[in-house]
Amino acid sequence: MSDRYAVFGNPLGHSRSPMIHARFAQESGQDLSYEKIEAPRSGFKAALRRFIAEGGRGCNVTAPFKIEALECATRLSPTARIAGAANTLCFDGADVFAENTDGIGLLRDIETNLHVSLRGRRVLLLGAGGAARGALIPMLMAGPEQISILNRTPAKAMALRDMVAEHGKVTVIGPHEASGHDLLINATSASLSGTCPALPDAAFEGASLAYDLCYGTAGGSPFLERAVAAGVPLVADGVGMLVEQAAAAFELWRETRPETADLIKEMRNK
Ligand code: NDP
Repeated sequence: MSDRYAVFGNPLGHSRSPMIHARFAQESGQDLSYEKIEAPRSGFKAALRRFIAEGGRGCNVTAPFKIEALECATRLSPTARIAGAANTLCFDGADVFAENTDGIGLLRDIETNLHVSLRGRRVLLLGAGGAARGALIPMLMAGPEQISILNRTPAKAMALRDMVAEHGKVTVIGPHEASGHDLLINATSASLSGTCPALPDAAFEGASLAYDLCYGTAGGSPFLERAVAAGVPLVADGVGMLVEQAAAAFELWRETRPETADLIKEMRNK
């Protein structure tokens, strides 16, 4: 029987994970199955226990279960611990290892696919929700000069800064301090509602990359539209991150790294 994997979430109608992992499995010759499990909102832990008992080898976890996924783990990666959330679990007997590959995927897309190094750069991170939390430690490991966090609710940005303070220079800023950054990363969910986080035009001046974690929004990304209008030379949505976070999970489970470039190109062109 094929090794079983799954993605847990609710709702899952939109999830592209089964397609991505089927493609990885096919191209790397791995014998596995990958299914969607739309657990009831109050029933994640029971559904996960059942999946493990039935022989599941690992899973991805998406909204709203990423925090509960962490609570189910017996071991946490440092990234998952600081993010306070896991998007990937690996099962080995009684051992449940939790990782958060969102930030790993973001970094890989920016540095490897888009050829933009964070080393020595000034980074503006918009947002302080789950995705921003997952991204911060991998971003700090890449050696930026500093990361400024700007969030609609400043207290959340401050709490996040305090959690990672020992790992690098992180400051919390307001919109009026948003200029002078090389790389702009929108980790808010504003694009999902067709808006751009409150930012002055000066925030886009001189930036070399604008990246929006959102992808596939019918109305596009107002943030990326503003970046293009302001002359930012490189803009990208979160499709590359989506594929790369899946690739990092696949590598953790199967100890082989799947090819990602063609799939990202195909998904971007759809
Ligand atoms: P959360 O709900 O945890 O956090 C949302 C964040 O966005 C908060 O910081 C919130 O601010 C801010 N926000 C929401 N609406 C607005 C607005 N109108 N203006 C300014 N700020 C706003 O979401 P996640 O962190 O999980 O996800 C964020 C985005 O990242 C989503 O669009 C998601 O699709 C995307 N994502 C993409 C991935 C990929 O693989 N490409 C992976 C994971 C996420 P406040 O604190 O004030 O509420």
